[in-house]
Amino acid sequence: MTHADVLIVGAGPVGLYAAFYVALRGLSVRLVESRPEVGGQLSALYPEKFIYDAPGFPRVRAHELVESLRRQLHPFSPALELGALAMSLELVTRGWQVTTWERTGERAYTAGAVILAAGIGALRPRVPDVAGVDLLGRVALEWPGAVVSPGDRVLVSGGVPQATRAALDLHDQGARVTLAHKRALFRGTPEQLTRLQQLREAGRLQVLAPSELLAFTPEGAELLFADARHALTLDGALYLNGYLPDLQSLQGWPLEWQGDYISSGAGQSTNLPGVFVAGDLSSSGGDLKLLAAGFAEAAVAANHAVHFVRPDLKVRPGHSSDKKLPTT
Ligand SMILES: Cc1cc2nc3c(=O)[nH]c(=O)nc-3n(C[C@H](O)[C@H](O)[C@H](O)COP(=O)(O)OP(=O)(O)OC[C@H]3O[C@@H](n4cnc5c(N)ncnc54)[C@H](O)[C@@H]3O)c2cc1C
Repeated sequence: MTHADVLIVGAGPVGLYAAFYVALRGLSVRLVESRPEVGGQLSALYPEKFIYDAPGFPRVRAHELVESLRRQLHPFSPALELGALAMSLELVTRGWQVTTWERTGERAYTAGAVILAAGIGALRPRVPDVAGVDLLGRVALEWPGAVVSPGDRVLVSGGVPQATRAALDLHDQGARVTLAHKRALFRGTPEQLTRLQQLREAGRLQVLAPSELLAFTPEGAELLFADARHALTLDGALYLNGYLPDLQSLQGWPLEWQGDYISSGAGQSTNLPGVFVAGDLSSSGGDLKLLAAGFAEAAVAANHAVHFVRPDLKVRPGHSSDKKLPTT
């Protein structure tokens, strides 16, 4: 089934919350996300950091807030397309068609209404600028998602939170992991960093830092560590060095832009009927790129999208406290 009442581009915090609100109103919803996991900037850029201004949380780590949003949405079982980059938007008989680029090729999804919650753009992983990157043929740029077998020798290159997480997860899957980074500093939650240190001290996970990744070779990789060249024989490698936001995939769409923002009017509407915008991408927040503003816009966009698809349903949702809902 490739049709949903409402399709949401972007499964960051705002997309997740908008999806929850659409589902709460009883409509079907599909989320399309270019990354292999939900959470947008919170998961990709600062999962281990505390947020102090999320409504109702005196302080919460970004990855925990994502987990709460995911749990709030989970009982409604939305369609979730991960690793799907939305490339085009066209008017069709059933509403709007969004075409995506996925690992298996192009796919098309239709919906009565679309909510754009694409934030600062698709978060695309940085590509290594070292010799022989195509030689190994198995350099993954994202975590989660890389397939590794127990016993495989794997290099994880990078100091971002995904690198620490990947090194620990791969170790747990039975891989023989080398973690390397240009600085002797890794990011992660205190629990992850403690565990990394323990595994390193026990000689169960090799850490080469500070080190320089010189090249990928047909056998593996070459690194400069402690003033000596090291040749690693590898079965796979992950290069995890952060993300660059990319709005290009949306810029050909027939939308009205104000710089990096899509112009939004009443009800978070755009210049296209049945297409709404919320969160960092919306002009309504001005330069106020904050979760609190994005969540409010998500609720407004979702309820207007619901009314657009089902004019018999009012925009006003009533109070959720009057409902009885399944909990996770
Ligand atoms: C380091 C840092 C710290 C921050 N701290 C705070 C804080 O303390 N408090 C606060 O309120 N805010 C904070 N923010 C800002 C907050 O993270 C953003 O306001 C919030 O993430 C916006 O949510 P969003 O869902 O609109 O966009 P995003 O989080 O950017 O999510 C958008 C999602 O859409 C996906 N996407 C984009 N284009 C496409 C496409 N074409 N196809 C498919 N998927 C697509 C992206 O991959 C991404 O996952 C911080 C931001 C950063 C970078």
